[in-house]
Amino acid sequence: MPLTNVWCRDGQGEWTRITAEKAEKDYRYTVSVHSRLFRCYHCFQYVTFVKGDGKTSHFRHSSGEMDKSCADRCKLDEAQMDNAVNAPRDQMRLRLEDGTVELEIGFAPVGKAALGKAITAHALVMVEGRENAPHHYWVDRSRFGTGRTTWLPLPLEWAVDFAVTGTPPGQVPRAWTEQRTGIDPAGTVFDVRTGKRIPERSDAEVGRPYYLLCDRWKYISVTNPAVQIRPVLIKNDAWKLYRISAPAYSPEAADYFFDYLHLRLTRVPAELHLLWPPVLEKDEMVETGSDSFEFLVTGEADFEAFPGNEQRTIHVRQIDEQQQLIRVEHAGALQMVCAAREHQRLSCLYIRPPDTQWRTAPALESRNTKGQVLDEPDLPKDGVIVLCSEVDASVTVEENGVFRYRKAVPAGKETQIPDCTKHTRIIIRQGLDIVQDIQFGKAKKKEQVPLVPWQGRMVPFPGRYAGVLDLVPKKSCLYRKVLQALRTGTIPEEAWKSLRKAMGERNG
Ligand SMILES: [Zn+2]
Repeated sequence: MPLTNVWCRDGQGEWTRITAEKAEKDYRYTVSVHSRLFRCYHCFQYVTFVKGDGKTSHFRHSSGEMDKSCADRCKLDEAQMDNAVNAPRDQMRLRLEDGTVELEIGFAPVGKAALGKAITAHALVMVEGRENAPHHYWVDRSRFGTGRTTWLPLPLEWAVDFAVTGTPPGQVPRAWTEQRTGIDPAGTVFDVRTGKRIPERSDAEVGRPYYLLCDRWKYISVTNPAVQIRPVLIKNDAWKLYRISAPAYSPEAADYFFDYLHLRLTRVPAELHLLWPPVLEKDEMVETGSDSFEFLVTGEADFEAFPGNEQRTIHVRQIDEQQQLIRVEHAGALQMVCAAREHQRLSCLYIRPPDTQWRTAPALESRNTKGQVLDEPDLPKDGVIVLCSEVDASVTVEENGVFRYRKAVPAGKETQIPDCTKHTRIIIRQGLDIVQDIQFGKAKKKEQVPLVPWQGRMVPFPGRYAGVLDLVPKKSCLYRKVLQALRTGTIPEEAWKSLRKAMGERNG
């Protein structure tokens, strides 16, 4: 079967992708596996280029190979490929604590709604190995966030074969419980600086140090003049740890990285850089209200975005062989963008709009029974108010200033408040925040606006910033919060930072 993903050495000696069509132009004859010019992308073995001689030229594995289990040879079925493409990044990192290797697994950031759903359902995440009882973690906001990756410990004795599950079924974000890849006893590579696992077939950078964690019985050649290899003493019994780096690029060093670490050594690793808008990146997360982005993709990689159907990707310009500019027009939801190669993600960023927690409260509408949205708190003739909220909320109903009852406003469902009169006051809360305060009749005109809780370290917020209000939807909770901040002259520091960012984006 012809191979589709093959490496060959470029003019600088680095391994780059090549197609049979390109090789067809460059080589006049069949190139034997023994020339060591071409390698299979999947199993790293050298392959043969077969010159077509009237038929199509192609690459193939030789029949005498040691490893016959090449993925390209047995052809992953399509569904499996799709899974590989859609699976979230399966993150793991290594920490060296006092001479002991400790592993952690990552839980990717999820949307606010998904996290809220899990918290409301009192969901549990379980990390389970072959031995001993699984570890349980409640999904709560102190542990899991929408804007960051959460790391939980993974005992090293479980690391080869472990699973992450969630309960109750369907309540835990799917990205957390999809299949995880254990470590390979034959060797798993971690970046020394970040601790993060480097998946097979990724790039290794010249000059950058890596850890190789492997079974204590695995043979690793430590005498290669092109590579610095140093054993690291660790207290974990069954394992060995090496620190490895290539001080300079050489074909020998590249071969060592391919053969022992299954990584492609390069001077220009595949990376993704956000060029525009100018925002801070934290933990691979970019928070911005902008709907157009420009990325620089470096190295031997393509650009991919997930989900891919909600945005438009425009290839702007190929700067040189190792750099290309990409523009993305974005739909406004959480999105992952990657520098990728053969569907493998090499460098990723999560892009999302600013946290809705403070920017605008999750949408809440009050309607009359005909389904018309009430603009002003005008009392419908039949006295029935219908509330619809995007997240779970609660409502308190007062009559003439006296508490009558409280009830839940479940997300996505209509909740009716009957028998409203001009003396009724309806206070709706999402969590502890008051998001709407509906008062009919006279009570409204008295401007009895209650103080909205807005927490954090307070900083001065002078009246000259009143223009900020233009950026905020009029009926939102945030609008009221900003109004209040202008009155009191103080604002939480975090909120002020984000507002400034929003102003900068509008003016810039
Ligand atoms: Zn292969």
